[in-house]
Amino acid sequence: MVLNRNTLVESARQESPEWDIIVIGGGATGLGTALDSVTRGYRTLLLEQSDFAKGTSSRSTKLVHGGVRYLRQGNISLVREALKERGLLIQNAPHLVRRQAFIIPGYKWWEKPFYSLGMKIYDRMAGKLGFGASGTLDTHQALKEIPSLNPENLRGGVCYFDGQFDDSRLAIDLMKSIHDHGGIAINYLKVTGFLKENGLIRGVTALDQISGESRQFRCKAVVNATGVFTDSVRELDDRESRAMIRASQGVHIVLDRSFMPGDNALMIPKTDDGRVLFAIPWHNRLIVGTTDTLVDSIDLEPRALAEELEYLLSHTGRYLASRPEPDDVKSVFTGLRPLVRSDDDKSTKKISRDHTILIDQSGLVTVTGGKWTTYRKMAEDTVDTAAEVGELPPRPSVTRDLKIHGSHETPVDSGESIDENPYYLYGSDAPKVRQIEQEQPGWDKPIHPSLEIRPAEIIWAVRYELACCIEDVLSRRTRALLLDAKASVEIAAKTATLIAEERKFSVEWIDQQVSDFKKIAANYRIDSYM
Ligand SMILES: Cc1cc2nc3c(=O)[nH]c(=O)nc-3n(C[C@H](O)[C@H](O)[C@H](O)COP(=O)(O)OP(=O)(O)OC[C@H]3O[C@@H](n4cnc5c(N)ncnc54)[C@H](O)[C@@H]3O)c2cc1C
Repeated sequence: MVLNRNTLVESARQESPEWDIIVIGGGATGLGTALDSVTRGYRTLLLEQSDFAKGTSSRSTKLVHGGVRYLRQGNISLVREALKERGLLIQNAPHLVRRQAFIIPGYKWWEKPFYSLGMKIYDRMAGKLGFGASGTLDTHQALKEIPSLNPENLRGGVCYFDGQFDDSRLAIDLMKSIHDHGGIAINYLKVTGFLKENGLIRGVTALDQISGESRQFRCKAVVNATGVFTDSVRELDDRESRAMIRASQGVHIVLDRSFMPGDNALMIPKTDDGRVLFAIPWHNRLIVGTTDTLVDSIDLEPRALAEELEYLLSHTGRYLASRPEPDDVKSVFTGLRPLVRSDDDKSTKKISRDHTILIDQSGLVTVTGGKWTTYRKMAEDTVDTAAEVGELPPRPSVTRDLKIHGSHETPVDSGESIDENPYYLYGSDAPKVRQIEQEQPGWDKPIHPSLEIRPAEIIWAVRYELACCIEDVLSRRTRALLLDAKASVEIAAKTATLIAEERKFSVEWIDQQVSDFKKIAANYRIDSYM
């Protein structure tokens, strides 16, 4: 379906004078909530202030997992729920989620038996939706699985299976699913206030970040799904509302695969300062992360701290044969976790597990916390609450077995991957992207030797995926900015030119875009931290 943003804004205003549910925030939580809502038959509108997944949802470790950390904390019900969601997600979006083998190396005598037992429990808890049985490895086998593992004092290890995915591609396919089912999701529309009747919320005002126009949308219930921005949106409703979120920053570095050749991922459950460290193959690169640093400022483009980068570089060097130097870092990306502080007296705390749902006196429903893996369950709980608040006819959630846009019947272990087929992640849309290749000579060729990005994908992103600027294309429709920040700057002008030709934009637009993109890309370049 062609998605034209201007047409969507007009339809949102004219076609439905009153929506059932308006969702604020186009990250995992908001997109999941809007999809759950529209597939129950509620008229649903989602508004995102920037681009879909611009916040935390494009900056995750890319794991679909039960959370080995929660298992260690004894939070059994949470792990069981996440493992169930992991199993459902690989069934509903097989083009984006794949099974990944992880190796936990043992350097102390107790680590192998301890983690082996833990992973057996993890396997059991996944039940029928399991990804494969874990097992132990002797030293020779561990080095065979990860040849670049530091062999000093190595006493074998444990192998287990979890899920890996492309976070922002899943967000884009959730957005397309919302449209497939008759809802509307629009980017670059920032909610700036609420419309109220007798103290109860009956709609929102929003500022179009592209045209500068202000809009109003009326509805029966509003969901605040704005992650680390939760408090600023609650303040639009009640200036006195007590802050409920604390942000914790997580940084990743991206390296060449040569630092850890092979298909396996490395998992260190507890580094010397008690953190979990992952090194995971992703799009033919290696992602290493993450950190956990409380921060006071909340920004759409958070920046890593020098000590976080040093921690990642030195710990990679500790567990792998060679220590990466700053020059080896292809990209740095940073995300903010919304951590829930404590109960707000003025509100009703409905559900408190991994995620929290609050209803304010105005009827504003806020959902926060959780993780990407559990977005569907969070959405189900949220829509149950919003339907009650908006006095909508009760209808059950249908997302448990709902195929997400792009889903196709590829068996989970078919072996096909992004490395073998550059359009693999487009799933059932891949043939349509290939068709665009035919429109112009050269549209089937990568535009940079280090990046698998072709003009056909850029055009596809603009025509069918609501990409509005270079960054939308290079950061979230394709992952160029996260895979190689320097190379992505080198293709910025070419990308802007293709977008401008497609949308009939001016040369001035191209120049402005390239300059804006370079500023954002600086956050992903390690040289900007030196
Ligand atoms: C470092 C890190 C690693 C992680 N790794 C994993 C992992 O491997 N697996 C996993 O399952 N989970 C992981 N998580 C957790 C997961 O990424 C988050 O739980 C999830 O992305 C949160 O999504 P969200 O929609 O709540 O927030 P966000 O993605 O931040 O979305 C909120 C959106 O609201 C928008 N917004 C804010 N204000 C307004 C407004 N006024 N009007 C309109 N829109 C507005 C923002 O622009 C933003 O896009 C990780 C988190 C971090 C920080």
